[in-house]
Amino acid sequence: MTDLIVAGGTVVTADRSFAADVAISQGRISSVGEALAGAHPDIPALDATGLLVLPGCVDVHTHTRLPTDDEADRFFQDSVAAAFGGTTTFLAFNNPGTGISEEGSSSLLAGMREFRARTAGESAVDFGLSAVLTGQQPDPVAELPDLIAAGVPTAKAFMIYDFRLTDERLFAALRAMGRHGGMLQVHCENATIIDALVAEALDRGDVAGRHHAPSRPTYAEAEATHRAIALARAADASVYVVHLSCADALAEVLAAKARGWPVYAETCPHYLAFTDARYGHPDEAEVIKSVISPPFRSDADRQALWLGLGAGGLDLVATDHVPDRLAVEKQMPAPPFPQISNGAPGIETLLSVVYSEGVATGRISIERMVDLLATTPARLFGLGSKGAVERGMDADLVLFDPTTHRTLSQSDLHHTSDFTPYEGMAASGAVRSVLVRGQMVVQDGVFFGRRGAGGFVERALSPVSRS
Ligand SMILES: [Zn+2]
Repeated sequence: MTDLIVAGGTVVTADRSFAADVAISQGRISSVGEALAGAHPDIPALDATGLLVLPGCVDVHTHTRLPTDDEADRFFQDSVAAAFGGTTTFLAFNNPGTGISEEGSSSLLAGMREFRARTAGESAVDFGLSAVLTGQQPDPVAELPDLIAAGVPTAKAFMIYDFRLTDERLFAALRAMGRHGGMLQVHCENATIIDALVAEALDRGDVAGRHHAPSRPTYAEAEATHRAIALARAADASVYVVHLSCADALAEVLAAKARGWPVYAETCPHYLAFTDARYGHPDEAEVIKSVISPPFRSDADRQALWLGLGAGGLDLVATDHVPDRLAVEKQMPAPPFPQISNGAPGIETLLSVVYSEGVATGRISIERMVDLLATTPARLFGLGSKGAVERGMDADLVLFDPTTHRTLSQSDLHHTSDFTPYEGMAASGAVRSVLVRGQMVVQDGVFFGRRGAGGFVERALSPVSRS
């Protein structure tokens, strides 16, 4: 029994684009084919004439905030923002900055239970958890098998910051992930180099935001990327490099891939759109919006990332969404640069930025974009029913109008940040309708979804991301 037919659009998969109708039954895609609507005039149809029918984006890197008594709506509201942007599934990290309790951050399993309890009934789109291993947890590696078995097979570890893992513990975490069907995501920056350069900058009195980028050079990212890959190799495990920002680090990933090692890497929209020229802005209030780690890089790095996305050195794009606010976390006057809150919002602008900067400019094909934003993230992160417009998959669909042009602006966004780094950027295309498991969530700029309609997705990795 078909509930709805998306009719007259152009379906885009990771391989091809073709005119087809999409029939939906009980939240799943029951058929993709020609003239389905014409053959069933009795079934309600959603007109997609002139529109692209894309699988909903799968954003595997966000730091959405947990609801609190004071700010009860933040998780829900950022899930609404995701929907407006064409993201139908997101993965959240529950690191301490997201509002998890001290108890929840002291143990992976306690953190997972708390995350699930506090996000239940909150989200407008589907979502999942990626855990965070820290040096403060007594024994996170011992908890990994149970975490993976409970539907959270991915977790992030840091090689930088005071909560980083030692190499010894990073190796143990990689080995446990490899043995039990998980995948470790690693923030790769060399702590010794960066700590020294930051200390030297502060000693010189170089405290302004513009000193953020020079204290985190590309070779520090590349060295740590190389080391993480070597540790994974020794542990006989896969490894996933988060927010890769530069050509030097990409070269390490390419070398590993050329050897056939299970090494994966993401980059983020801000590294594809911006360069370190942003740190030269005379107004410190502008500079702190761009304080993100790794920092924005040179234009040559930016071009290299686009080449990497096109040629396969980079596997996907995710946002690293941090809903910081200029009125709260990034307040002026700014503290010395090492204390500026790191991060910027992006949960709502993923598809806009990658389509505008990638597809509309001819850097990547629309099919490659679908692969990078939906198909590969779903496959690598164990979301087996997501990421493709195919029979049997969840009917998570975005109807996208490729012909319009608009200007990105905070005033049009729905996220819980109070700024967007893309303010004033010319964008091509626009999201018209978004369906999650066949239910209309956004249509023509209006939210039709429901708080709690999105569910927590328990994940299991397929062997492709494991070995
Ligand atoms: Zn992050």
